[in-house]
Amino acid sequence: MKLLALLLAAALAPLCQAAPADTQRTAAWFTAHRDRPPMLRQFLQRMPKGADLHSHISGAIYAESYLKWAAEANYCVDTAKLAFVPPPCSAGGTLVLAGKLPTSTYSSLVDRMSTRNQAYAGQSGHDQFFDTFGVFGPVSGIPDRFVSMEAELADRAAGQHIQHLELMTTFQSGAVRKLGGGLPWAAESDFSRRRQWLLDNGLARLVEAGRKDLDALDAAYRQTQGCGTPAAKPGCAVSVRWLQQTTRTGPPEQVFAQLAYAFELAKADKRVVGLNLVAPEDDPVALRDYHLQMEMLGFLSQQAPGVKIALHAGELTLGLVPPEALHSHIRDAVLLAGAHRIGHAVDIGYEDAARETLKTMKEKGVAAEICLTSNDVILGVKGRDHPFPDYLAAGVPVVLASDDEGVSRIDLSNEYLRAALGYGLAYRQLKQLSRNSLEYSFLPGASLWRDAACRKDAPGSARPSAPCQAFLAGSEKASRQWALEAEFETFEKMPEWRQAAKR
Ligand SMILES: [Zn+2]
Repeated sequence: MKLLALLLAAALAPLCQAAPADTQRTAAWFTAHRDRPPMLRQFLQRMPKGADLHSHISGAIYAESYLKWAAEANYCVDTAKLAFVPPPCSAGGTLVLAGKLPTSTYSSLVDRMSTRNQAYAGQSGHDQFFDTFGVFGPVSGIPDRFVSMEAELADRAAGQHIQHLELMTTFQSGAVRKLGGGLPWAAESDFSRRRQWLLDNGLARLVEAGRKDLDALDAAYRQTQGCGTPAAKPGCAVSVRWLQQTTRTGPPEQVFAQLAYAFELAKADKRVVGLNLVAPEDDPVALRDYHLQMEMLGFLSQQAPGVKIALHAGELTLGLVPPEALHSHIRDAVLLAGAHRIGHAVDIGYEDAARETLKTMKEKGVAAEICLTSNDVILGVKGRDHPFPDYLAAGVPVVLASDDEGVSRIDLSNEYLRAALGYGLAYRQLKQLSRNSLEYSFLPGASLWRDAACRKDAPGSARPSAPCQAFLAGSEKASRQWALEAEFETFEKMPEWRQAAKR
């Protein structure tokens, strides 16, 4: 563990500042309480954590919220199937109003919509995890509930001192897939001609429709949360941006249309900061078409080089798929698709050119989004079998992310705790991961740490110099980074951390 700690310290060193006394004292408190998980949890809950960059909005909602919204919308529950039935429905037989569920049924539904009770599930964590989406789907699909979902996540983030979220969702999902389905893959497999066909046949109209969806969502969100009023909810202080999803298990004509749409939407609307591929990577279609999909991304990225790409890649392990499927997903995502961030990246140990891929990720600044609980639940990969320390030791930029905090029954603070308890990370290292989450976010603007404008200023100070102020005003990313440094200063001055000796 000591060697590992040294390796990690070296990997994290470049962006770290010289530690002032408050930082040292805070770090000492953390070390002194290393064997006290509840105390560490308390510390990490309060610690500023920058951003959560890998979060699926529907999977991040807790089952209890879905049950509440189902009740409010007069849904029924089929108690035999443990499934929601939309209104109009009337109680009788196996149907019970969602607002009048017996406690045991309510509890079973929470089990069914999460991975909290593996004994209940009677199936693998992988299958239980992915099955949940079909159960809460009818409720998450109620149009005005999307606002409630965003509000739940933003408020929860604020409560954990997270200031930025990049949430995955799919705008205009059905319409885009329908458009793509209008030209079978066998009839046209040339990327350029297919893209042009989409543009000629309504893709731009769907971009406008997507932007209108975003306008309506923003307006409803601000009203629901009271943003800009004295009664503003805490989530109003959190910046929320969107990553447009493509379902990787669809036929090629639909996948291509969804990807082309994601690039166009991100180009047209700054609220959509990038895109991602979702659905199980081990699905037979996803495996069959993986290389083709990476080539699609590479091509489309050339048409829109400014659009950022985050990809689930290497969310696999031996046994889940044959060894042949483990050789190159991460490498292909980095080299063929030009991904800027890799989600999960768990199977690196099985890849043919793992060392070169790690080196490339380090050199190109391709971040690994590490989702420790998700990988444990879905893949059964945890502890020393997880490559988290290997990414750190290789100097690959790393962020911690929650993935689906509602289904997994966690939050981002929990992932920091896992990193501390499971991998021995010290306070200074966790602080660096927090900084990384803004550094490798897709927020626009230059990085505070890579531009000279604020070099002579103390990061986070209340009165930055004039050149620094001008720079911060022109960079959303840097201004968030500045705010994070200010939060760290406040955090490290808290009297609680002076109690290291009085345990
Ligand atoms: Zn994910």
